[in-house]
Amino acid sequence: MENATINLLNLDRASLEKLFVDMGEHRFRAEQAMKWIYGDFELDFNQFNNFSKVLRNRLSETCMTALPELLNESKSSDGTIKWLLKVDDINAVETVFIPEKNRGTLCVSSQVGCTLNCTFCATGAQGFNRHLTTAEIIAQVWVAAKQLGHHKNNRVITNVVMMGMGEPLANYENVLPALNIMRDDLGFGFANRRVTVSTAGLVPKIVQLNQDADVALAISLHAPFDDLRNKLVPVNKKYNIETLLSACKDFIKNKRKARITIEYTLIDGVNDQPEHARALCLLLADLPSKINLIPFNPFPGSLFKQSKPDAIEQFKAICMKNGFITTVRKTRGDDIAAACGQLAGEFMDRTRRSSQVNKLQLELV
Ligand code: SF4
Repeated sequence: MENATINLLNLDRASLEKLFVDMGEHRFRAEQAMKWIYGDFELDFNQFNNFSKVLRNRLSETCMTALPELLNESKSSDGTIKWLLKVDDINAVETVFIPEKNRGTLCVSSQVGCTLNCTFCATGAQGFNRHLTTAEIIAQVWVAAKQLGHHKNNRVITNVVMMGMGEPLANYENVLPALNIMRDDLGFGFANRRVTVSTAGLVPKIVQLNQDADVALAISLHAPFDDLRNKLVPVNKKYNIETLLSACKDFIKNKRKARITIEYTLIDGVNDQPEHARALCLLLADLPSKINLIPFNPFPGSLFKQSKPDAIEQFKAICMKNGFITTVRKTRGDDIAAACGQLAGEFMDRTRRSSQVNKLQLELV
């Protein structure tokens, strides 16, 4: 293993096939390797008993199957589970499993920290260290599946959402192969519509994703007006609401029954008034979409407060009256800080972003 350089978990099926063909092997070795890694959770080449000893030795010399180290598993009283995975000596990321009556959703991280600096988000407040590799992204699914006893005849995880730490489309190169492995029958075999990429609105990458992967899309909108969204989701200054929603329309054009999920964090007195709800409905009038309202989850140092229950109900009622399927996300995993917008992982804060976030919040409260 000393000179091993290629982590097989970084490779989707097409890249694995190329690897084996380049080694002078048949491409079906890729299928066999995927069955071992994702079907049987077997990472030791010596156990790949349908590979010759010679091939197993060659793989051991040039390749590896490395996973992040599982540092901690916390279980909430409501059944939510959070795993902390050490990806290198100074960085760890979080992955969350949320069990519900008819589904089990795994929330996966794509970066250590995030560059986008959304004012209401604990991850954004902590700065950015680095992108995760494909292996580090798919390993989150691998570890969760293994810990939960998930396999093809016991599908504990039904949905994967790229809504953990980081902006997935800012790490497109590594996220795309991970999306491929999640949806590959020899990977985790999730249906396209059960794998969701959530973005704050990197428009050129939404266009690219539309060409490269048939997955579901969620947009972190959080405000119906550009001036407010510029403050809550600063990337809006680059790609405004009109440009973003136009990319969304293109994304679902020609896709039967497809809808975009609109994520909207409700912050007390900031974006939760009836005029915001009415403006949101107008904006979305010609975009097949459903609205997911997320009561703001406070994090240490944040000046924002969660919207009052009446304001949340009123906001929801306006959206529903306008014909939108509207859900209010229940706060899950509160006792283990696993709720949306609370994931922080553990890493060195190189940018001292928190003070910037506080300044932006002060302008709004
Ligand atoms: S909400 Fe998403 S895009 Fe915005 S800072 Fe947090 S992780 Fe990044």
